[in-house]
Amino acid sequence: MRSCHDLHTHSTASDGSLTPGELVRKAAAAGVAALALTDHDTVEGLAEAARAAVGAGIALINGIEISVTWNRCTVHIVGLGIDPDHPGLLAGLRGLRDYRDRRAEEIGDRLHKAGIPGALEGARRFAGDGLVSRTHFAHFLAETGRAKNVQDVFKRYLVRNKPGHVPGDWASLAEAVGWILDAGGQAVVAHPARYDMTATKLRSMLGEFRELGGTGIEVVSGSHSLDDYQVMARLAADMKFLASAGSDYHGPNNFRIELGHLPSLPASCTPIWHDWPDRRAA
Ligand code: AMP
Ligand code: MN
Ligand code: MN
Ligand code: MN
Repeated sequence: MRSCHDLHTHSTASDGSLTPGELVRKAAAAGVAALALTDHDTVEGLAEAARAAVGAGIALINGIEISVTWNRCTVHIVGLGIDPDHPGLLAGLRGLRDYRDRRAEEIGDRLHKAGIPGALEGARRFAGDGLVSRTHFAHFLAETGRAKNVQDVFKRYLVRNKPGHVPGDWASLAEAVGWILDAGGQAVVAHPARYDMTATKLRSMLGEFRELGGTGIEVVSGSHSLDDYQVMARLAADMKFLASAGSDYHGPNNFRIELGHLPSLPASCTPIWHDWPDRRAA
């Protein structure tokens, strides 16, 4: 069975390749009933997405994917049902994007020292009007022929111990969850099986997350394997988290699960949307 909720996607406002409008129309055509646009550290795409959702037969959930540094690990926290005009949330995200700009310059400098000039300008070209992410550096490096594809670029240039790596200095877990809750949203740990953490460390992070008011974890995710679905479903049941589902779609040339093809949550899960009003557009 397929899920009609896809609660984790990206647009050109961050590192996706479809505009918010294109994304919404494609999701609606693919049979998604409820879509969350969750760009990295920005709500810039939400107004256009909301306009496109009107009359498209799809409910748009205002979302965000916030970059967090927890115990020197980068963790992503998704916010669902946020007020995109909330001043505290907007101020927090502004700070993250300022850090992103500084980090992009440092990535550019490090790559320059490693004999690769022009990377910041190249990444900015791929980012267009949106924020600059490592994905845009990866597209530039792939274009220059330094690796066979984007995955390979990450492995060779953009991760720990590689020339273009800059250790993250993002929001704290408390800040990210606080901004989301203050903006009226629900906080969800994105792709929990993908972090470079032991099971014990993951549980400790999830325990802190719950103490802070976080309520959900992604069980079905484009970044998870089929085995991960089962492991995360057990963890959600065990730690009494609601379960979320999201493709983490980044565009037609960069997806693991196509829009509209997300599998249903395992039956043991309580979906994060279990008490949401049915907002399906008429
Ligand atoms: P940033 O937030 O700028 O550090 O970029 C993180 C983004 O890079 C993630 O959201 C993914 O879209 C992408 N990414 C991270 N690791 C990889 C990888 N190994 N292969 C392809 N894309 C990746
Ligand atoms: Mn991304
Ligand atoms: Mn993520
Ligand atoms: Mn994502």
